[in-house]
Amino acid sequence: MTFASLGLIEPLLRTLTELDYQTPTPVQSQAIPAVLKGRDLMAAAQTGTGKTAGFALPLLQRLTLEGPQVASNSVRALVLTPTRELAEQVLQSFQAYGQHLPLSSYAVYGGVSINPQMMKLRKGVDVLVATPGRLLDLYRQNALKFTQLQTLVLDEADRMLDLGFARELDELFSALPKKRQTLLFSATFSDAIRQMAGELLRDPLSVEV
Ligand code: AMP
Repeated sequence: MTFASLGLIEPLLRTLTELDYQTPTPVQSQAIPAVLKGRDLMAAAQTGTGKTAGFALPLLQRLTLEGPQVASNSVRALVLTPTRELAEQVLQSFQAYGQHLPLSSYAVYGGVSINPQMMKLRKGVDVLVATPGRLLDLYRQNALKFTQLQTLVLDEADRMLDLGFARELDELFSALPKKRQTLLFSATFSDAIRQMAGELLRDPLSVEV
């Protein structure tokens, strides 16, 4: 299995060569072709499996090949993470994998002042990585619109519920366009996660690694 055979475009293949990623991991070989096609995904994958590239690479490709330029205060792909540390890490992955693509990415989270985040969002951003509480604050303050949202990723969904983000998530989900792609990653699949998946995902591909 090669990254080229999964359908990735040249600028991404070049980046993977530069990063010395030689072979897709199991979660990547299952997730990448499905996400490229626009399918929903439910994946049981822990950190260390290569799950971040599993969603970041195909999302970057779709954003490059499809859709309009991002409008002000808009976002085209949204990745929710439980903590600011993970948000920064996921942002770094998007920036590394997207280095040869003309896309913007940014991370917002609590514990730092909100004003610079509001300023930054004015121009719009292709990929926004966010923790749920701060994202909701920004949305309530009209710093963000979701009309252009094409893909939602929930990364470490079980930890988001463990940290008590269920209500914030419900409010956010109700603000998102119904027609979108949704990818849910979780290390464990409790009843609560299954219920969330049932509500959010449409005919998802299940991936287990
Ligand atoms: P993740 O599970 O997404 O946190 O990724 C774990 C680590 O594996 C990260 O440091 C990645 O840079 C690295 N990685 C992901 N995919 C590959 C791959 N196909 N080949 C080599 N390293 C990889």
